[in-house]
Amino acid sequence: MMCARELADSGKRIVLLERQALGRESSWAGGGILSPLAPWRAAEPITALCRWSQSAYPRLAEELMESTGIDPEWLPSGLLFSDCLEIDRAKAWADTHAIQYESLASIDLGRIEPNLCAAGINPLLLPGIAQVRNPRLLHALRLDLTRRGVGLLEQHPVDEIKIERGRVVGVVACNQLLTAQDYVVTAGAWSGLLALNSGLPELPIMPVKGEMLIFDSPPGLLKHMVLSGGRYLIPRKDGKILAGSTVENAQFNKGITASAFEALSAFATSLLPALGQCLIEKHWAGLRPGSADGIPTIGPHPDVANLFFNCGHFRNGFGMAPASARLLASQVLQQSPIVPPEPYLPAARG
Ligand SMILES: Cc1cc2nc3c(=O)[nH]c(=O)nc-3n(C[C@H](O)[C@H](O)[C@H](O)COP(=O)(O)OP(=O)(O)OC[C@H]3O[C@@H](n4cnc5c(N)ncnc54)[C@H](O)[C@@H]3O)c2cc1C
Repeated sequence: MMCARELADSGKRIVLLERQALGRESSWAGGGILSPLAPWRAAEPITALCRWSQSAYPRLAEELMESTGIDPEWLPSGLLFSDCLEIDRAKAWADTHAIQYESLASIDLGRIEPNLCAAGINPLLLPGIAQVRNPRLLHALRLDLTRRGVGLLEQHPVDEIKIERGRVVGVVACNQLLTAQDYVVTAGAWSGLLALNSGLPELPIMPVKGEMLIFDSPPGLLKHMVLSGGRYLIPRKDGKILAGSTVENAQFNKGITASAFEALSAFATSLLPALGQCLIEKHWAGLRPGSADGIPTIGPHPDVANLFFNCGHFRNGFGMAPASARLLASQVLQQSPIVPPEPYLPAARG
């Protein structure tokens, strides 16, 4: 949807084909943290897209709020590591990228988050890291696209991309051949499957299941997004708290499991014991478009003239979305790219 929005600004007629309902898959299931979970470990191409997107989000959220009346809840709640095991590496990375940080004493941790039960040796706060409430952002994007005249064809699964003599001649959806000037694959975890069904070489994208819980907690229990031992809590604007997430290789199976429920609720209540008194409102799973290094595939297909990709964002689809969409649009429209495009090109990723 962000790609469609970028391209719609060019005045071109854009149509989005969606297998079921828009914004119900990974983008709906995610946490909306606008940073990698250990940003100092992320590959530079991920950092480049995240940094650009971080500065684009406040304006994007404001524009969506103005055009749709829906608040995507961009919230700079800060990312707090209760115990950063790589403190020196994290600080060096933050210095290199001019990212604000506060390394805290345990006593400060107790002061800024009095309800947390974490005796961290090296707490670290990245105060500028924000979140979005992804289901609301998606809802706003969908409405904004209709206002921009983008065609939304839901319940239209693309079965095949028809390629003849090095060009896409159409896509097959609902037994029809639909044609356009250019085509962009943004099918998330299913992008590799679509490429395969179309006789294209395999893309380095595989589904990686993630399960999450949301607690019906009162406002004020937690102020920051908190990371501990690879898991996290995300406090929303209205006080509800998400606990995530698992990382499972489950092919295309999105089923939720009792073991994930137990592991996530135990993690959440041990870090924030007050959650033990709160109802778990929902438990869900989504399929991340995974790749070995987390770098997305963005840009033109090397051998098919009018075919583009923007997929494979793995754990940082929200963190990288505005920059990915802008980069993709610049390639379709043959404009200057916002970052060097080479690391993301399908030819480099295959
Ligand atoms: C539990 C969990 C937590 C996460 N937390 C975060 C986080 O905190 N921060 C962050 O940045 N990222 C997070 N992510 C990752 C992020 O959600 C994804 O990287 C991102 O949403 C991927 O977006 P996408 O549009 O590529 O894929 P999706 O949102 O999955 O969209 C792909 C769409 O393509 C459609 N489709 C598939 N095949 C076809 C077809 N053949 N024809 C037509 N339509 C098709 C699907 O129905 C779907 O709607 C998380 C993910 C999960 C699961």
